[in-house]
Amino acid sequence: MRALAQSMTGLELPAVEKISEEQAEDPFQILIATILSARTQDATTHAASTRLFKAARTPRTLAKLPVKQIERLIYPVSFYRYKARYVKACCEMLVSRFGGKVPSTMDELLLLPGVGRKTANLVLILGFKSPRNICVDTHVHRISNRLGWVRTTLPDETEQALYHATDKRWWPYINLYLVTWGQNVCRPVYPRCRDCVIRDECPRIGVSRTKS
Ligand code: SF4
Repeated sequence: MRALAQSMTGLELPAVEKISEEQAEDPFQILIATILSARTQDATTHAASTRLFKAARTPRTLAKLPVKQIERLIYPVSFYRYKARYVKACCEMLVSRFGGKVPSTMDELLLLPGVGRKTANLVLILGFKSPRNICVDTHVHRISNRLGWVRTTLPDETEQALYHATDKRWWPYINLYLVTWGQNVCRPVYPRCRDCVIRDECPRIGVSRTKS
């Protein structure tokens, strides 16, 4: 983790991290941007989130937008029709049940439409500075298995296994480091193992071909 941390300089950060930095770690914008980010390129997520937050910056104002308008604002994120409905329903629940504020516990976050453990963990880490959570997406799941830290088939299993396999002090950083690494070096197909700073430590489990 230390070697990865030192190699982050100059690499493109994940979209939700950028939004978190730009918006002073606002839990609401982190929550909505993470919902939009599922299966979507980072540049698309960033542009769509920026357009959406220009139109409405709070749960109350966003809940009032018609679904069709939200669709237009977030297009072309993948599944934009479903996501527009989730965003609106999520904002409506934030207003009706949580007084217009993003809740700060896992159990409450999981009540929100469109929110699973990945989104909830990222909101807790970036929006509430929680040191007790690990956010696992496809990059974290893939790289943890390639490195042999865990042997799992699903991201939720990986999250639980990582709490046992890694040192607590790294938990809030695992997502940032492994997602950045996964987008730039340890890619899903043809990882760039020759350029990887941890290649001597990595057993490359499941990697059959690398970029030459
Ligand atoms: S050596 Fe290859 S498989 Fe291992 S972390 Fe680096 S890029 Fe990924």
